[in-house]
Amino acid sequence: MRGLLVGRMQPVHKGHLQVIKRILEEVNEVVICIGSAQLSHTLKDPFTAGERVMMLTKALTENNISPSRYYIIPVQDIECNSVWAAHIKMLTPPFDHVYSGNPLVQRLFIEDDFEVTEPPLFNRTLYSGTEVRRRILENEDWQELVPESVVKVVKEIDGVQRMKHLSKKEVH
Ligand code: NAD
Repeated sequence: MRGLLVGRMQPVHKGHLQVIKRILEEVNEVVICIGSAQLSHTLKDPFTAGERVMMLTKALTENNISPSRYYIIPVQDIECNSVWAAHIKMLTPPFDHVYSGNPLVQRLFIEDDFEVTEPPLFNRTLYSGTEVRRRILENEDWQELVPESVVKVVKEIDGVQRMKHLSKKEVH
């Protein structure tokens, strides 16, 4: 059995890691799509697809998850929701089961005749990309919400400075 998880992962946080571990209790392999791959350098989507691949790969390695058990595939958004499931299928190894907490993702795969499971959320008020990005900008402790390896990647790419720079108001 092979499962699918799609996420923007801006950035990868401990909730993503928990859900991936949970999925791997049910299926042999998981296909992880990094969604909105075309977006970066905005406050809502600060990190490039490549940077998010790096965060996820290192976080999975840090958690002793064998690379033989996952595929990480960046996927750009498309205009037409009605053919998005086909777009995903075009880019991924075949999968049997979809895991998502996102109602739009759930709906599009249900209508494409997939079995869809909504995995339980782990402390969603804390473990969310919105909360991590908010804490980065407010100089609060964001590091506790993400795997250690993600802290290192954000440091390597100067991610905190990037976000703070982007948040500056233009002065004329
Ligand atoms: P996300 O990173 O917020 O979450 C991804 C998944 O991680 C969730 O579905 C949930 O199952 C899990 N998760 C997140 N926080 C968790 C927590 N605290 N505990 C446990 N699990 C947790 O990403 P998302 O917004 O769901 O990503 C969907 C992607 O699909 C986006 O990039 C979106 O643009 C893309 N999409 C594109 C189209 C299109 O192009 N037409 C259509 C639908 C979706």
